[in-house]
Amino acid sequence: MFIDEYISGVAPVKGKILLVDDQVVNIKILHQLLQDDYDIFMARDGQQAIDMCKKVNPDIVLLDIEMPMMNGFDVCAHLKNDPDTEDIAIIFVSGHFDEEKEVKGFQLGAVDFIHKPINPVITKTRVKNQIMLKSQTDLLRTIALLDALTGVANRRKFEQTLPICWLQCARDKHPLTIIMLDIDFFKHFNDNYGHAEGDRCLRIVAQKIQDTVNRPYDLVARYGGEEFICILPNTDAIGGTYVAQQIVDSILSLKITHENSDVSDFVTISAGVATITPRGDSSYQDLVKAADKQLYLSKDRGRNRVIGCDITDDTVAV
Ligand SMILES: [Mg+2]
Repeated sequence: MFIDEYISGVAPVKGKILLVDDQVVNIKILHQLLQDDYDIFMARDGQQAIDMCKKVNPDIVLLDIEMPMMNGFDVCAHLKNDPDTEDIAIIFVSGHFDEEKEVKGFQLGAVDFIHKPINPVITKTRVKNQIMLKSQTDLLRTIALLDALTGVANRRKFEQTLPICWLQCARDKHPLTIIMLDIDFFKHFNDNYGHAEGDRCLRIVAQKIQDTVNRPYDLVARYGGEEFICILPNTDAIGGTYVAQQIVDSILSLKITHENSDVSDFVTISAGVATITPRGDSSYQDLVKAADKQLYLSKDRGRNRVIGCDITDDTVAV
């Protein structure tokens, strides 16, 4: 998906709001006020609110301060301390104006306050403003991690994701595979057909790789000019090599004419695959280096092919 498609696709999504209050009557009032414009979820206490945030990932929480057991401040602190929920905007709903409480709420990360009794105009406006702000922030956050030309993830996203996958696979003792890809003789392609055609080629190739690597927890990123990189968690060397071969075959099957390639009449791609089951004495940088080395071998041995290795025991397995 390209960025302009992404932007146009984002607009119609309805905002999600979680209403949290120990008094049903307060939830009812807010529900009536907001139900036509948003998807509404409800919680009656702090723990329910936290569970609900994890489950439905609302854009905004309207959070009552005075609740038994866990009050609104504790809920807010909890949500802000969890990377899964820290971006949810929190509007406190308090019984009356209390400067000290408002200061505390803002310090905990709230974005606004609403006072009871609920004023419909003020509440609707404040919620609408925060929903707009939240959707714009979400969009910027997404765009910052996308490659503008191809629409796949960018290198920053790759660098954010790899350490997380590394830790996860280390904890579960699962193999982690990296595929590094480089379009063959791409400089010749650009020289022959011009940069506009070169960009078009990059887009088509990127989308094909993305379509081929299709498990939700895999990542495809543009690594450099005509280089792409894939992270495949829970994937051994045989599985990784299989996926890489599918990518190599699928790029050739696109039949993008490339008269100045020494490999074929069409655009081809070379792949280097490296796999490891992470341990204390290894690092993800080693894994990337190993994939890069395999890519170099793949180029050296004729391109349009896959070379892979498992570096868990420093032995070449594939
Ligand atoms: Mg209350």
